[in-house]
Amino acid sequence: MNMIYLKRVTLGLVVLFPMVSAFGWGEPHLAITKAALDVLPTWQREMLGEELGPLGSRYCLIPDEVYTDKENAKFAMMDTEPGKVYLVKLHLPASQPENLEALRYFMTKAVASLKAGNKGDAARYMGTICHLLEDYGSPSHTIPGDNMFTLLQQFMPPPDAMKGKLLHGPIENGTFEVSIKDYHPHLLGVTVEEAAWRLLHRVHEGIINARSTTIPIIQALYANDAQAVITSQMKAATMDARVVADALHTILCLGAQKFDDTAQAPLRDVGIASMFPLEAVNLYFPQSEFFSTPYWGHPRTGVVLEGGTKEMPLKLRIAQDRGVVEKEFTEGISAGMGKILTYHVPKDVYQRFTVLVGLHPELGAKGRVEFTINGDGKPLATVTLGGEDSAQLLDCDLSGVSQIQLVLNSRGLNPKSNYAIWAEPTLIKR
Ligand SMILES: [Zn+2]
Repeated sequence: MNMIYLKRVTLGLVVLFPMVSAFGWGEPHLAITKAALDVLPTWQREMLGEELGPLGSRYCLIPDEVYTDKENAKFAMMDTEPGKVYLVKLHLPASQPENLEALRYFMTKAVASLKAGNKGDAARYMGTICHLLEDYGSPSHTIPGDNMFTLLQQFMPPPDAMKGKLLHGPIENGTFEVSIKDYHPHLLGVTVEEAAWRLLHRVHEGIINARSTTIPIIQALYANDAQAVITSQMKAATMDARVVADALHTILCLGAQKFDDTAQAPLRDVGIASMFPLEAVNLYFPQSEFFSTPYWGHPRTGVVLEGGTKEMPLKLRIAQDRGVVEKEFTEGISAGMGKILTYHVPKDVYQRFTVLVGLHPELGAKGRVEFTINGDGKPLATVTLGGEDSAQLLDCDLSGVSQIQLVLNSRGLNPKSNYAIWAEPTLIKR
């Protein structure tokens, strides 16, 4: 949460909400970090040793305490922003590239400190990462540009008893215990480059999960239903703890260069269909990204919308030895003409990108579409297919590429039939 803001209003808050803690998720930061530390493998807890305690009780608060804890403030600062003590992006999500850069920066620092045998510094950098992940997944950090919910309260006018009260603190603060005791943390990568990128997408899940809790919490606050507030806060805090556990586990694996074979297997291929492209800046498609054909809408994952209204399964015509068959896909994207989907890819982590492209056999029978994959602005693969054609597999080399774009253009006379599908878009290591 924003410290500058806190300095200005803490006195007011004390009068209005005597129980409110002074820091962002406040006490929950500690509860969430401890829950994550509890599920780390024994060798990792031993590796942290005497730093395990302070990581859960102090270091995860470093980004909120940069003005008072001068000694540790440097562990929440970035070389790219010299002299800047308070970095808003450690509390509120910025753009995807900025968020990724912050994760990569602090992960690099933590891993380098572990490799150098400096556990104290490593644990402090890990504390900063915990804080960022927890704040991004907090129920009161969910609405871009409306951190105090002044806009949302125009949509949800408060009852008289709540009038004039700022909601940020009450939405996220409380006293609760977090436990994820049956959770096994996931390895997110065998290099910082890979792990930071996967962690970014993991925290996107945390942000979406937190968004689903904000309005129920406000409704519960308005209804003075403390139990319902905690139930929704727990939904966010539990997810945050899992994301934090994955991050800490991965950093310690990277620091020790110790990777389990079975944990590495799922990292070989990664489907990107459900990831948010850069055009979905705040993890939704703004109206400027809507396309006009084959209907007025935005890209969808896992389904195609008939006429922009009715969800249908993704389907393609596939050529096989014994003729052509129609096949349904659960992983894939349906999108319209003219709007580009851009995905950051960690450089030189994946060798290839593959995707099956084609038009939906029924909805797109009369369409004709050019499918193009660009890598850093240059075409890597392109094909033009009509509605009667079988799907084609596009397979591109990703050497040196850090951004791919999926581009669709109408090449026929019937744009309302251009139901184009990118099925199983996948980044492949080998
Ligand atoms: Zn914060």
